[in-house]
Amino acid sequence: MSNSDCLFCRIAAGAFGTPFLWEDDEVVAFLDIAPQAPTHALIIPRKHIASLGASTPEDDALLGKMLGVARTVAAQLGVAERGYRTVLNTGDDGGQSVHHLHVHVLGGRPMRWPPG
Ligand code: 5GP
Ligand code: ZN
Repeated sequence: MSNSDCLFCRIAAGAFGTPFLWEDDEVVAFLDIAPQAPTHALIIPRKHIASLGASTPEDDALLGKMLGVARTVAAQLGVAERGYRTVLNTGDDGGQSVHHLHVHVLGGRPMRWPPG
């Protein structure tokens, strides 16, 4: 389930004392260490899933739950009214650098499209 070699598994387990914006038995959320916008949070499952591409239909309820937590965290951080961007980077071309599934919530400034 959890992988002791994985940074985000260790964060979810509380190994670094990271303050959580959301915490329950399946999902945790915390601020990104290198924010790309005034508000930048990450939503992760406690279960080690390497990426969206590595998830299976059995994980679909958990994926939906992560989006619901993203909505809650966006409201909590005060960006819900003006809007925000949710991002899931998958694999090399997707720009994924941490191989534990995570949803980015970015807000507090206008986002551009297309993304880089
Ligand atoms: P990715 O590039 O995989 O989509 O996103 C990984 C994110 O994790 C990056 O935005 C990066 O700043 C963030 N990150 C990497 N290491 C840590 C860490 O130790 N703590 C926190 N809070 N965020 C991290
Ligand atoms: Zn992990």
